Amino acid sequence: MNGDNRFPYPAVRRKLLKWFKANARSYPWRTTSNWFHLLMAEMMLRRTRANQAARVYVQFTQQFETPADSAKVESTVLLKMFEPLGLAWRGRQLLQTLDFLSDSYAKRRPEPSDDLFAIPGVGDYSNAMLRNRLFNERLPALDSNMARLICRIEGWSYSAEARRKRQIIEVAHKLVQIKASRELNLAILDFSALVCKPVHPVCVGCPLASHCSYGRKRLNRISGHRVRGSPVNSARM
Ligand code: SF4
Repeated sequence: MNGDNRFPYPAVRRKLLKWFKANARSYPWRTTSNWFHLLMAEMMLRRTRANQAARVYVQFTQQFETPADSAKVESTVLLKMFEPLGLAWRGRQLLQTLDFLSDSYAKRRPEPSDDLFAIPGVGDYSNAMLRNRLFNERLPALDSNMARLICRIEGWSYSAEARRKRQIIEVAHKLVQIKASRELNLAILDFSALVCKPVHPVCVGCPLASHCSYGRKRLNRISGHRVRGSPVNSARM
């Protein structure tokens, strides 16, 4: 399977960015220029719904501008604040993150040469999202949502492990090689949540339908009409 040459990069980028302009979700961390707030938002969003994280984020950022500010507060106070995020380990991990940040970044912000994986809680996804946002590096925020969208467009079968497959990683990297890579990452995040959902994607009226193998098959099946576009790709992975 090699879908890299078939993937309609320019059209998908253009249509996703256009869709995002009209439909972007509004979250407080999307407009901040404070690196500490942005990093904490990424940590809070791990396995937590955005609306749930938003309440904690607003409360946290209203009180703490820097890692040094949060270091002055008792850990019990912070744990209480993190409680709405759910799961006790989340709070403990956020405390580890804060400890590390107040030790390593008390007097400076992260630099591109820094290894963000050293920060407790930062994994592949948050590293890519943070480097994209903080340093404008063209990295894909490749999670299960982006992997699912790529699989559907390509006509590849999707599984929970898809985001680790080489072919999908290659497409994701190539997809975000544009100046507006940050907007594109966010567009894919929102598009996957609102349109190309895990269950019952909204293929009718989807701007990507004519480029999407899965969508064309689905629309042909449910409406009995053919959707314009290149022939349906039946490749499997
Ligand atoms: S046509 Fe359907 S499956 Fe394809 S991108 Fe749009 S919503 Fe997703």
